[in-house]
Formats: sequence, C-alpha cells, structure tokens
Amino acid sequence: MSWRASGPARFNYDISGMDSDKQRLRSLPSVDRVLRETPHLAERWGHERVAAAIRNELERMRNNPELLNLAGKTLLLSHVAAAVETELENAAKSSLVRVFNLTGTVLHTNLGRALLPEEALEAVQAVASSPSSLEYGLQTGKRGDRDEHVEHLICELCAVEAATVVNNNAAAVLLVLNTLAKELEVPVSRGELVEIGGSFRIPEIMQSSGCVLVEVGTTNRTHLKDYKNAVNDKTALLLKVHASNYQIQGFTRSVAETDLAELAQQHGLPFVVDLGSGNLVDFPAFKLPDEPTVAHTVKRGADIVTFSGDKLLGGPQCGIIAGKQELITRIKKNPMKRALRVDKMTLAALVEVLRLYQDPSRLVEKLPTLAALARPAGKIRAQAERVAPHLAEALAPRYQVIITECNSQVGSGALPVETLPSFGVRISAVDDSDEAIRRLADSMRGLPAPVIGRINKGAYFLDLRCLDREEEFIAQLDKSGLERSGNFA
Ligand SMILES: *Cc1c(COP(=O)(O)O)cnc(C)c1O
Repeated sequence: MSWRASGPARFNYDISGMDSDKQRLRSLPSVDRVLRETPHLAERWGHERVAAAIRNELERMRNNPELLNLAGKTLLLSHVAAAVETELENAAKSSLVRVFNLTGTVLHTNLGRALLPEEALEAVQAVASSPSSLEYGLQTGKRGDRDEHVEHLICELCAVEAATVVNNNAAAVLLVLNTLAKELEVPVSRGELVEIGGSFRIPEIMQSSGCVLVEVGTTNRTHLKDYKNAVNDKTALLLKVHASNYQIQGFTRSVAETDLAELAQQHGLPFVVDLGSGNLVDFPAFKLPDEPTVAHTVKRGADIVTFSGDKLLGGPQCGIIAGKQELITRIKKNPMKRALRVDKMTLAALVEVLRLYQDPSRLVEKLPTLAALARPAGKIRAQAERVAPHLAEALAPRYQVIITECNSQVGSGALPVETLPSFGVRISAVDDSDEAIRRLADSMRGLPAPVIGRINKGAYFLDLRCLDREEEFIAQLDKSGLERSGNFA
C-alpha cells in the first residue's frame, strides 16, 4: 500500500488506541466524509469517479481486516484517500506507451515495427485534426477515391500501372485471393507455406479467402514441372510467397519468378507475388544486404505484388497491392475492399513516406527505419561507451556491465538470415543467478519509459542500434528509478 505524504496534514482522524477489528470497521470513514476531505480528487477526476473509487476502497478494506490493521497506526481517512488517488492514477495510465526497443530486432512486430518520419507525423496531425480531401476531388467538386492520393506515387516507385492500399499485407493477400481465386485453385510450393509472426499462415489465409490451396513440390525442392502438373481448368493464378522469416539451406530448389511468370502467361493466368517486406530502394547502396525491390519483382514478370507498409518501407501499417490495371480494378471493386480499407491517418503518413523515396539521396537522413538499419557500428559503439557507465553505476554492486559486439536483425520477416553488426551491453548478475537477471529485466520494463532488452544464456543484453532519446534513457537510470520500478533486487 503506497503512502503519499501530500501537503500539510489535512486529516485528524486518528484511530490509534482501538484494537479490535470490529472497532476498526466502525471507524471507517463514510464515502461522503472522504469526498469532503479530498476536494482535490473530485476536481481532477470528477465526483462520480472519485465516489466510486472510494466506495471500492472502503469495500476492499471491509473485506480485508488485515488492511485495516496495516492502516491502524496511521490516519485511516488519509490512508483511504491515498489509496484512491493511486488507484485513479493507475487507471488513467494507458497500457499503450512508448518504449525503448533494445532487443536488437529493428522491425519488431510486437513493438510496433517502423517509426514514422517527421513529415508523416505532421501530415497525420493535419488530417486528423481537420476535415480533409480524403474522398473529394478538389478540382471537380465531386466525390473522389481515397486511393488516388497514393496510387500515382506507388506506380512511379514500383513501376506498375495501378495500386490500392488496405489495412495490412495479410489483408492484401486475402483481398487478392478472394477477388481473383475464389472457389478456384492456387498452386503454392510446399516450401512457401509459411507462418509469419504466428498469426499469418499462408494456408489459413488462403482458406479464409475462399480459394483452394494446391500444394506442389516438397519442403526443400520444388520444380517448374510440379507447377506445370498442377495447372488445370480450375487454376486461378500462380502464387509465390517470399520466404520471409526463414531460409531453407542445403539441397534446395525453388522456381525462379521469371519461369513462373512465363508459365502463368502461357495459361493466361495472373502471377501474384507476396513479397512481405517490399523495399523500394537498392539496399546495397546503403551498405545493407541485397533484397529484391518491388520494381525488380515486377520486372521479373509479377502481375500483382503485395507488401507491408510498416516493414522495410518504413511507413505506417498497411498493405500495398501493386500491379496490372485490369487486375487492380477488379480488386478495388470487391466489396471486401471496403472492410479492409485504410483510414486517413494511414494514407496521410504513407503519402509522405513515399514522397521521401522520390529523393533516395536524402532517404537515410529522413526515414527513421532506414537510419536505424544503416546506422554504422562505430556510432553504436560510441554510444555504448557513453551509456555503459550510467548503467554500471545504477546496477552496482549486484550487476556487472560490459560493452559487447552483437548482431542486430532486421525483423518482421525481412532478410531472415543476414544480420547487421552492432554494439550493446551485456549485463550479468554477480551472484550468477537467473532470478537476478529476470528481476533486472522486470525492472527495466517497469521504468517510466520501459526498456525492452533480451535475456540470453543467463545474461541480459541491450543492443543499442535503436537507442534514440539517449538522454531520457540515461536520466531514468538512477538507482532510485530502478527501485521504484518495482522488482530491482
Ligand atoms: C509480414 C508478411 C506478411 C504479413 O504482413 P502484415 O503486414 O504483417 O499483415 C505476409 N506475407 C509475408 C511474406 C510477410 O513477410
């Protein structure tokens, strides 16, 4: 039970001297009495909420006489008031808060993936706080189409004829299959029947879309003839799924996009590629591992490409469907599109992010996700040297902090095998116990701006690649802060 000594003692409701539970129960103040004595609470939270919270607290005390005993030596009324205030304050905190992602995974799905650039934030604020031309043609004065704000940008950057945007890439795949393959067959390589992040499984999405999955080949090897044998009158399209979060190594074979595109064309079928991450720029130019761009995939014969907005693209959560005009037109007409459409804030952010891609030379400095991915190891090391002494001081004498080389991952299924050389700190417990490490992780998560690290082989790791707001990070690290956060040993 927290005790808050706020201001001068306003209460003089002392029950010291009474000792039986009964007497204590009788001495509990009434709701009105507490309300009268705590006008500041009602002013802040409103009369109704405070009264309800007081009733709850009194009820709780009545049901737990030991709580009364705890409070017995203090002022009972102020005890109730303090408990009510703590309760109201906790209830007012959102569970959705910003955190420090020091996990070493840049695009961490559970931590919100890409971070938006300044330009996007301003655009979001503008359309969120005022009416906008979301579906309104300013030249014609007539109803417009919300896709128009981004379609020309996607067409330019992906070298496609048309495009549309939905809630996320899972929705993009669902909508494409539901439009083009409902009640028809779609052959997919067994090596590509992937699960991404536990909730997106290609076989399940295919089932939800109403198409029939025809598995071809084997997990490690699929040949063009496997697809050829699977194609018949009921085949709707050919689908290739980017093996996002794993790589099969060794005795493997998959069919090149160009070959699948040719086969699809011979049978008059669309060739659809679920790219997953979908980057728009040449990665080696930023000293990053190579990854085929959307335009590259289109050039290799894809009629439709789907990809996420908040993975390598570095934008808001959305799913982009880009490709042939005739197919996109059909996709846009599917009534399901209405259920999967994006809101104005997403569109506003996406427009600005895509606009940044029109000038690749300034992309690294403008786009936070790319900046994090391309951050030189030397800079991260220098930051580790600045940060480590503060950690060491806050965690002494129970923990030891050393600077260590580490490898960051891109995350969210992009570039599953390649890692990015990075620096961080390794924190070990002097008593070498797993319990101490677990408590440290708990305390770091309990800080005002929670810190998310990683436990590995009995130690706690912080990869500093994504550490922005360095001053805030250091400032909250003093020992008392860690102690307040709850679990510090
Ligand atoms: C990430 C991914 C998805 C799911 O995309 P969301 O935007 O998370 O819905 C689908 N397919 C592939 C290949 C992916 O990598």
